Amino acid sequence: MNQAAFPPEALAAVDLRSDTVTRPTPEMYQAMLEAPLGDDVLGDDPTVARLEGLAAQMTGKEAALFVPSGTMGNQVALASHCSPGDAILIEEEAHILYYEVGAPAAISGVVSWTLPSTHGVMDPDVVERHVLKASLHTPATSLLCLENTHNRAGGTIIPLATMTAYQQIAERHGLKIHLDGARLFNASVALGVPARQIAASVDSVSFCLSKGLRSPVGSLLCGSAGFIDKARIWRKRLGGGMRQSGLLAACGLVSLERMVDRLAGDHARARRTAERLAALPGLSVDLDRVQTNIVLVVTHKAASDWAKALREFDIWCSAVAANRLRLMFHADVDDAKTDRAIAAFEELSPRMIA
Ligand SMILES: *Cc1c(COP(=O)(O)O)cnc(C)c1O
Repeated sequence: MNQAAFPPEALAAVDLRSDTVTRPTPEMYQAMLEAPLGDDVLGDDPTVARLEGLAAQMTGKEAALFVPSGTMGNQVALASHCSPGDAILIEEEAHILYYEVGAPAAISGVVSWTLPSTHGVMDPDVVERHVLKASLHTPATSLLCLENTHNRAGGTIIPLATMTAYQQIAERHGLKIHLDGARLFNASVALGVPARQIAASVDSVSFCLSKGLRSPVGSLLCGSAGFIDKARIWRKRLGGGMRQSGLLAACGLVSLERMVDRLAGDHARARRTAERLAALPGLSVDLDRVQTNIVLVVTHKAASDWAKALREFDIWCSAVAANRLRLMFHADVDDAKTDRAIAAFEELSPRMIA
């Protein structure tokens, strides 16, 4: 094992800040050593081609494109589906709006029409009421953006029946649907259905290799062959063409072949933690939202005070709002570390009642 990649202080801490903090596994290092490489911008890196083929197959789409980040996957999708001046319908706390630095306006020139939701799930009737037809006055609504699982709502899942309802709206009005599926496989494992069943309702889907699936870098954007041809041009335009990217794709193959089933363990540890924390004074947890690997904890005292106090126990987590901590479970938080985190909350709770 590469010791430099695993500094002891990082291994000692219980790092719940994000599911992106994991290091590559020893089998990923081995896969990088053995991967056949080419120049992917010239189109001949065999390891990237294998990864894209597997991603397309797992999402039930014709083609896929390896991109450096989930943000690029989403933005390349918007640019490929929309023309400047189009409207997109999108949930008001979506990652695409909150965490992608205004890219829909800056890159694609679209108007974002934001809609409320319950736990990240927009009411299909409300979606349908907001579809605009192009006219002398109104922009054309060309795209519906979904997020499954929903990050800011706490890792919540869009029910399959709701996905189908969105699909029917899109068919009635001639819109496309893009799914930000950064944690698509968390939804798939939690629902007990293959990812392609979720993706069947949408035209394009992006997902991350770098979160629960443990790769160091990378996302995939999947869709029809014609859509991916356009997306490849947008990726190049944004500087996302990569050369011997088979090195990274080799890790991605390990992710897709061996890391999907392990997500169930993250979900179980998140659930166990949520139930224990919900019982403590000074905290509340909406257990209905704890559906996958994320736990949102409402703190009666300032979340930043809690985060600071937890640091003393070597428990790291993010204050994502004035009174909200976010705990994210991933491969480096096993049962023992989960117990340590719960114990720290239990010890602090009597002192942290506002
Ligand atoms: C993490 C994430 C992304 C992509 O993030 P990158 O850091 O750009 O890879 C997109 N959408 C959601 C919902 C996410 O959680």
